Amino acid sequence: MSNSEWTFQTKLLHNDSKVDKETGAVSVPIHHSSTFHQVDIEEFGKYDYSRSGNPTREALENAIAELEDGTRGFAFSSGMAAISTAFLLLSKGDHVVISEDVYGGTFRMVTEVLSRFGIDYTFVDMTDLHDVASKIKPNTKVIYMETPSNPLLKITDISGIVKLAKANNCLTFLDNTFMTPALQRPLSLGVDVVLHSATKFLAGHSDVLAGLAVVKDAELGQQIYKLQNSFGAVLGVQDAWLVLRGMKTLHVRLQQSTASARKIAEALSKQPKVEEVYYPGLTFHKGYSIQRYQADGPGAVLSFKLPDAEAVKTFVQNVKLPVFAVSLGAVESILSYPAKMSHAAMPKEEREARGITDGLLRLSVGLENAEDLIKDFEGAFAKLPLVQKFRNVKVR
Ligand SMILES: *Cc1c(COP(=O)(O)O)cnc(C)c1O
Repeated sequence: MSNSEWTFQTKLLHNDSKVDKETGAVSVPIHHSSTFHQVDIEEFGKYDYSRSGNPTREALENAIAELEDGTRGFAFSSGMAAISTAFLLLSKGDHVVISEDVYGGTFRMVTEVLSRFGIDYTFVDMTDLHDVASKIKPNTKVIYMETPSNPLLKITDISGIVKLAKANNCLTFLDNTFMTPALQRPLSLGVDVVLHSATKFLAGHSDVLAGLAVVKDAELGQQIYKLQNSFGAVLGVQDAWLVLRGMKTLHVRLQQSTASARKIAEALSKQPKVEEVYYPGLTFHKGYSIQRYQADGPGAVLSFKLPDAEAVKTFVQNVKLPVFAVSLGAVESILSYPAKMSHAAMPKEEREARGITDGLLRLSVGLENAEDLIKDFEGAFAKLPLVQKFRNVKVR
């Protein structure tokens, strides 16, 4: 059996760095060295300086490249460093078409930083191919997707966007943080650059900040390598090791958390105090069938809407199990408040227009027992006043 025939689950453990070639170590050695001795003035070895290449970081870069069905991976000091470096492929005068409910940090990068360098942007509803097609301009160079989107879990038809992009000579970038290659492999669907905040599910333990970029095309790989080395936001070796270790249990963690997320989403959709539940594993979710087609599961993140900020406050004060924090994709469940956390960088009107209201909470399901989480939530819901679930329906 060759490597390529193994399932994802097996590939997580049996990769190039399974056994160190020098020592037989079964854990990737941490090479704390900024520079590398050269034996000759003519011939330099494979490594010369750690910003340009380091064996520990490279073990992670190779691992993610293989898992994403790519040819080359790049590890950065954070997800934003990976995303920002990929955007450096653009030049003054270029235009980006981007998901309207994109991660708050990406929104800030595009609207407040790239814009100063003469790079223009248009936000679109990426779930609407007609809307996307109508916003492509002659100078559009990149279509930027995030699916499922954050925090409303909207599903983009990846193949549909790739077709549009190819017809218009644009590159496609996709933030695969919520799915990871365990559930979704965008390069196989024709996407050009896959981006990750490895801080989340890939590392998985709320103990490290890291970002990754993966490509299939060798020429594009060369360009990103040059940008990584020029901008210099590379991942340190200790952190690369932590991500590698976290990734070994990625499959089992996501399987467990996804199963629990399904149960919780179902329980929430029956809870009269919840106005709406957003989870692509619910059959009534708008993106349900596309998600089933393009991914191997709905993932472990869901959002739900309470009536207002007051209800959110009471709920958060009374819930005991989840950590109330920014971030997601960890062994512990994390409850977050997009309006004040991930999307605080977005002006209120823009935020509300995107459906990220003051009553919206996002839950990243961890490895606790699902029934324990449901019970904990029910306890907190009991503290909320009962409101009419369909508040817009007038009672005659
Ligand atoms: C967290 C996150 C990022 C940013 O990653 P950092 O590691 O925090 O820099 C980007 N995209 C998504 C979807 C995220 O959740």
